[in-house]
Amino acid sequence: MLEIKNLHAKIEDGDKEILKGINLEIKPGEVHAIMGPNGAGKSTLSSVIAGKEDYEVTDGEILFEGEEIGEDAPEERAHKGIFLSFQYPVEIPGVTVTNFIKAALNETRKANGLEEMGAKEMLGLIRENSEKLGIRKDFLSRSLNEGFSGGEKKRNEIFQMMMLNPKLAILDETDSGLDIDALRIVADGVNQFKNEGNAVLLITHYQRLLNYIQPDFVHVLADGKIIKTGDKSLALELEEKGYDWLLN
Ligand code: ADP
Ligand code: MG
Ligand code: MG
Repeated sequence: MLEIKNLHAKIEDGDKEILKGINLEIKPGEVHAIMGPNGAGKSTLSSVIAGKEDYEVTDGEILFEGEEIGEDAPEERAHKGIFLSFQYPVEIPGVTVTNFIKAALNETRKANGLEEMGAKEMLGLIRENSEKLGIRKDFLSRSLNEGFSGGEKKRNEIFQMMMLNPKLAILDETDSGLDIDALRIVADGVNQFKNEGNAVLLITHYQRLLNYIQPDFVHVLADGKIIKTGDKSLALELEEKGYDWLLN
């Protein structure tokens, strides 16, 4: 599904290289976790895959379903089925959680040559996904992100993922303040979302999160490179020993 070959990237208007030759292959049905020390380049990697304009790819390739996407705008990548959490963190007073996701979903459908989803089908989908995530009705009619707590932001983000139903979901757990409830919301959502046809790239420095989500692969990213790949046991080892034994 996703194939990254020798990816190098830097900040658009800087010359410091941040990603220094990343190789990563993600197949349908897989969950990959990327862990690593602060400043390793984890968020940069997720941003570069999603096509955020602050970064520039200086070498290598990103293939999605066999097609080079390196030149695609972020919206195009989203329409192809790549979802990045917190791509829509904006507060939009007067636009409700429901109206926002309806518009986003229909825009994606339109970009893929599909008609707008009928009101009844849309309502059914909203109901199905909000029930799965334990989202209450009053939450759906709140203004997007306005005064949302950390947990509510997470819940909305996961709701967006479930509604948009991407092929590849990239979740970047950057917040240092993720409490256990927020971790459970994320884990619960990922576990409900996951199926044989889609894939998840979970970026986190919380080993705890991997107690609730079973990754097929765990990669350690340090100084812009993947320095080790293993299975779930690697995450446990990292929790016990930290990262130092892997560095230098
Ligand atoms: P991580 O998510 O692993 O903590 P980041 O990808 O956020 O790491 O950052 C990697 C390195 O690149 C850090 O040294 C960080 O300071 C730098 N960096 C990332 N994005 C920017 C940016 N927009 N402007 C300046 N420096 C950046
Ligand atoms: Mg960081
Ligand atoms: Mg980060």
